Amino acid sequence: MSGRPLPIPDEQSQPFWTASAKHVLTLPRCSNCQKFSFPPDIVCPQCHTLEPAFEFQPVASGGKVRTWTVIRQSFLSGFETPFVLVDVELDAQAGLRMIGQLLDGPSAPLKVGDRVEVAFEDLAPGTSVPGFKLVKSS
Ligand SMILES: [Zn+2]
Repeated sequence: MSGRPLPIPDEQSQPFWTASAKHVLTLPRCSNCQKFSFPPDIVCPQCHTLEPAFEFQPVASGGKVRTWTVIRQSFLSGFETPFVLVDVELDAQAGLRMIGQLLDGPSAPLKVGDRVEVAFEDLAPGTSVPGFKLVKSS
């Protein structure tokens, strides 16, 4: 247990957290246009339907770093600072972005366009949170 605040799933986000506990990244897909939108909204931002009926579906876990920020002061307890948040464009769909903690640590060499893969932090039994790890180039 890290002492970090744990996610509190609601009706809409429950499938995301259930899959995360199994270390599977799922994202909401619009039932009208079949495009992913994250986070899900009342209206699909892709096709503008008022009834997107989003369903969480597994997606490929790779992506590339768009930008990042170093958090030096946390306003929530349980976060060890400094840590890095990366803004990642996922391979699953052009423009599909997700923000998460870079699990390689604050001193990892980082540049725009670096390849990352989703990795999960196990915060408590049955509760895992997606973050990212750099893909080592060979
Ligand atoms: Zn749509």
